[in-house]
Amino acid sequence: MDSKVTRNFSYGLFVLTAKDGDKDNGCIINTAIQAASEPLRISIAVNKANYTHDMIMKTGEFNVSFLSEASEFATYQHFGFQSGRDVDKFAEIEFKRAENGIAYITNGTNAFVSGKVVETVDLGSHTMFIADMTDGEILSADPSVTYAYYFANIKPSPGSDAKPEDAPKKGWVCTICGYIYEGEVLPEDFICPICKHPASDFEKL
Ligand code: FE
Repeated sequence: MDSKVTRNFSYGLFVLTAKDGDKDNGCIINTAIQAASEPLRISIAVNKANYTHDMIMKTGEFNVSFLSEASEFATYQHFGFQSGRDVDKFAEIEFKRAENGIAYITNGTNAFVSGKVVETVDLGSHTMFIADMTDGEILSADPSVTYAYYFANIKPSPGSDAKPEDAPKKGWVCTICGYIYEGEVLPEDFICPICKHPASDFEKL
């Protein structure tokens, strides 16, 4: 089996947000879909390593902000390449609050929806949350970004900001965030420390 076939799935990209007490947090996901129409239900799958995952497990509520083609790489770095355990991701960004009290992102997005969890499914690396869609609003007319558009037009090529003399001779680069693993052999169970993607998303330098 060629596991790279999964890259041919088409995906959008989203900022998933949650709130636990006074703590706001968010992360980037590519796994939000409308799952049913009657009742109107959505599903998301979230890597268990994400702090946002634990917050949704606890509170059962979340918002999904739809990133548009007008989104900037800085937004992906901000929400995807650092952990809410270490920083307050809402300290210096533009956002509003939906009726559920949870933040949604207003910059580089074209819509948001709110979800109230009705079922969780343990999928191994990820948990799938199935939720009633309780709110939603269009924010702009910009097209939704796709994973393919992000790679072609928004994400800088891996290591493009590194000086040539810094480049390691041997190693593996995370094709998602650009993190470089220095070493000849990448362990099969390696998880990118920055974006939490698996070894299959790394390419040899
Ligand atoms: Fe990564």
